[in-house]
Amino acid sequence: MQRNQQDTIVAIATPPGQGAIGIIRLSGSKALEIASSCFTSKNLLQVPGYSVHFGVLKNEQLEILDEVVATVFRAPHSYTGEDVVEFSCHGSPYILSSAMQLMLRSGARMAEPGEFTMRAFLNGKMDLAQAEAVADLIASENKISHSMAMKQVRGGFSNEIAALRQELIDFAALIELELDFGEEDVEFADRTKLRDLLHRIRLTIHRLLESFELGNVLKHGVSTIIAGRPNAGKSTLLNALLNEERAIVSDIAGTTRDTISEILHIKGMKFRFVDTAGIRDTADVIESLGVKRALEEISRGALVLYMVDVTVTIPAQLKAQLTALDMDADRLIVLLNKMDLHPYLNASDYYFEGLTGPDNVLPMSAKNHMNVEALKDMLYHTVVKDASMLDQTIVTNTRHVDALKRADESLAAVLQGLDTGVTGDFIAFDIRQALYHLASITGNISSEDLLDSIFTRFCIGK
Ligand code: GDP
Repeated sequence: MQRNQQDTIVAIATPPGQGAIGIIRLSGSKALEIASSCFTSKNLLQVPGYSVHFGVLKNEQLEILDEVVATVFRAPHSYTGEDVVEFSCHGSPYILSSAMQLMLRSGARMAEPGEFTMRAFLNGKMDLAQAEAVADLIASENKISHSMAMKQVRGGFSNEIAALRQELIDFAALIELELDFGEEDVEFADRTKLRDLLHRIRLTIHRLLESFELGNVLKHGVSTIIAGRPNAGKSTLLNALLNEERAIVSDIAGTTRDTISEILHIKGMKFRFVDTAGIRDTADVIESLGVKRALEEISRGALVLYMVDVTVTIPAQLKAQLTALDMDADRLIVLLNKMDLHPYLNASDYYFEGLTGPDNVLPMSAKNHMNVEALKDMLYHTVVKDASMLDQTIVTNTRHVDALKRADESLAAVLQGLDTGVTGDFIAFDIRQALYHLASITGNISSEDLLDSIFTRFCIGK
């Protein structure tokens, strides 16, 4: 990838298509000069940073292309840390592409995806974990994914990693000092304290690694499979949840042919509902096998809503069905549907030791929208078992997970080395490895390849 840092780069920073406003962004040492050559109303080379100017953009034939507002940022006080000019134009794709062509002819180069943010990173405006979170912030589509990304952009995760590294660096320095003394048998680094520190750091790393599962579902949505026998009311439930006639409801068993997937945001969390009504067979045993296969096929499913028609299912039958499905209790919710036809139903009859209980069994009527809100609460609490989880740092990025795992392995090797009494140089080596992996998260150490793979995932203009 061509990444000449000296170039002045340009891109359309707003999404494609028509809009009230479209923004062209220029960044680099020649940004002001290039902007001034097209913006004839005022000499932008002479204006201060953080200033806004109304005027016209003209092409080489001095034809007016648009009336625009230019916002000037001067290095280092800009997003990229370089001189930046943003032209707010009328949001016509023709105007924007003509304006950009004009800037390109005036000496700018088209920005690569993520190049503005990469420059921000290279110029020390943010670390790598923060820069990655910018992509998550742009992609965030609900309250929770937004607040996770925002925390990371504001440096929450980076600070946690930096604190771990700092403690380890202090110890590494002592060990390296021992090595300098070579033959002399000195120990500056207290081995007991080092051991304690390693355990503490590993605990933090393990907590961060565990948070990834939650982070992942929060970021990508919780896939939730609606399973159950034909006519249990699965499609009706999906409609009730979505409050619209999306799935086809009928009393003829097996009418829902296709797997239907719908997105719903509950308390700022994204759920992706998959109706498996179409995947089934007729004979009883095969039926449950069919559902089981459906569940396996959609094995990424984080949660299963198992619907039961209480008018035709006695507790022993439900138990047999759930056992056949080999369900895991923490990702199962049993819905005792059609309670309107069975008002004296006793939900606790359907509690089975180790599988179902008050936290995951809900009587309801999908058709009459009874307990649909209670179901939403139950769904939310099944994912967020403890609300304080959301206040802690949550890892959402697989690159970070990988680095944390590697750091953890190196720390385990240091501990093992201490146990077996290996020499200081081996310990120092493993500590350096752990430091390296932690540093790779925030980008204190980074290779060209790593940067490319991170920033090319951005959209152009960011
Ligand atoms: P699916 O095969 O599991 O998707 O079941 P459907 O959603 O197509 O529902 C089958 C039948 O049960 C339809 O006639 C629904 O109107 C009816 N039904 C669904 N939920 C309820 C309910 O809570 N109460 C009653 N009385 N009927 C329901």
